[in-house]
Amino acid sequence: MTTSALMPVYPRCEVRPVRGDGCHLIGEKGERYLDFASGIAVNLLGHSHPHLIGAIQRQAATLMHVSNLYGSPQQEHLAQRLVDLTFADMVFFTNSGAEAVECAIKTARRFHHVTGNPHRHKLICFSNAFHGRTLGTISATNQEKMRDGFEPLLPGFTVVDFNDLTAAEAAIDEATAGFLVEPIQGEGGIRPATQEFLSGLRALCDKHGLMLILDEVQCGVARTGTLYAHEQYGVTPDIMATAKGIGGGFPLGACLATAHAGQGMTFGTHGSTYGGNPLAMAAGEAVLDVVTEESFLPNVRAMGERLRGALEQMIPNHDHLFESVRGKGLMLGIKMKTDSRAFVSYLRGHGLLTVAAGDNVVRVLPPLIINEAHISEFVEKLSAAARDYEVLA
Ligand SMILES: *Cc1c(COP(=O)(O)O)cnc(C)c1O
Repeated sequence: MTTSALMPVYPRCEVRPVRGDGCHLIGEKGERYLDFASGIAVNLLGHSHPHLIGAIQRQAATLMHVSNLYGSPQQEHLAQRLVDLTFADMVFFTNSGAEAVECAIKTARRFHHVTGNPHRHKLICFSNAFHGRTLGTISATNQEKMRDGFEPLLPGFTVVDFNDLTAAEAAIDEATAGFLVEPIQGEGGIRPATQEFLSGLRALCDKHGLMLILDEVQCGVARTGTLYAHEQYGVTPDIMATAKGIGGGFPLGACLATAHAGQGMTFGTHGSTYGGNPLAMAAGEAVLDVVTEESFLPNVRAMGERLRGALEQMIPNHDHLFESVRGKGLMLGIKMKTDSRAFVSYLRGHGLLTVAAGDNVVRVLPPLIINEAHISEFVEKLSAAARDYEVLA
């Protein structure tokens, strides 16, 4: 272990990337890794994508940052594109996922405040959820490891079991503002909401005048084969948080809302110094240029099916290690019968980058530009590693 001046909140491993090349990363000593982690679902165009590089370089040389005190043609343009592509009518740009969720929470509370129900401030959230690391967002999960030692947390959150519609309904009272839910839980272990659950939450919101807030920070921006995952459920949110992939590696997030849901977010109610600066907007535009190309989403779906099929075929050969594959598109999880963290760490030694998640799941989150050769490389190396791992175990 080298000593460093960093706050030691991460168990930094031996992978120390210094350069990226498409779907691969290159370490300090020149070693190559196949990157099926994508900076945790961020680098959806892989590394060193020419269109993203060009856009950022041009914008950096033109105008990097101005204050939100000034008019922003760059934000207006990207916001309009997002509105045209989604359910939303308005957008607030942030620098991260947690800030996008914070804005979503504030938007929901303000909605009830300005429509004569200021007592409706409470959000119903779900077990094993992950919404970020701010005080507000750790208050919206029951994950002990994120909350321990940070009490008192914010009031106004209730946690019930994920995918339990009866529990969600039973938790509604006169103080309820809405639901905050990931359509597919990421950190919690690639757990998709059931159709019945997500449709049921929408129906409960319609019946009780509540806000449905979707956290698509991880599952959004083409990751599951549609621009946003909720499209596959035929469920429309009132408010949505998006981030991770939306900047392709540049820190960018956004809170999207319908005009109805966003009506409380008036002049002076929210803000951000950096949020939506011209450099970030250029990155967001470049990502949207690529993911809205006609062949992009069909390719994500095709590669998702290929990868899933290949993993499912591999499982019986190592069935005391792997249990099943779950997820949608290129947001996949391999459920393990042993500790997934130890195995993910072992894979790094075999030149493969994946991410551990809750419930002993190995998250497989490749760049969305992968082709069949990357899938073959991944599955071959994974099989070889699984074979050696079994010998060791
Ligand atoms: C990563 C993540 C967040 C937090 O995003 P940050 O950019 O780390 O603040 C919130 N929600 C979900 C579902 C995430 O996966």
